[in-house]
Amino acid sequence: MGCIFCDIVAKKKPARIVYEDEEILAFRDLNPQAPIHILIIPKKHVSGVTGLRDEDRRLVGLIHQAAVRIARAESVYQCGFRLVVNSGPDAGQAIDHLHFHFLAGRRLSWPPG
Ligand code: 5GP
Ligand code: ZN
Repeated sequence: MGCIFCDIVAKKKPARIVYEDEEILAFRDLNPQAPIHILIIPKKHVSGVTGLRDEDRRLVGLIHQAAVRIARAESVYQCGFRLVVNSGPDAGQAIDHLHFHFLAGRRLSWPPG
């Protein structure tokens, strides 16, 4: 079965990439929910947080480090940002390739909807 995010990693599908290294890719969400809405993903296909294995532990740290780099690049390091992972139907996970939503650029309400 095809995976949209694997296609973006393989550059078979276009995306507005904001950060890339050997293991991580970050690109702008197609349907932004905030002025800055970026998806941070491992290049390796992992189905979601529930699909993480012991050997993937490092990826989670790298994703967070990428988020901090992005925060600096997008000039929201000081004013703040939110990292969100949706897991499963109740949380609205639509794509089964692990992705962290990086949201910023407006006051984000809490609790989330
Ligand atoms: P989820 O609901 O699984 O947590 O988030 C999936 C996200 O992927 C949504 O915010 C949606 O707008 C975004 N998305 C879906 N398809 C594409 C695509 O082809 N390109 C990009 N850049 N974002 C996508
Ligand atoms: Zn994938």
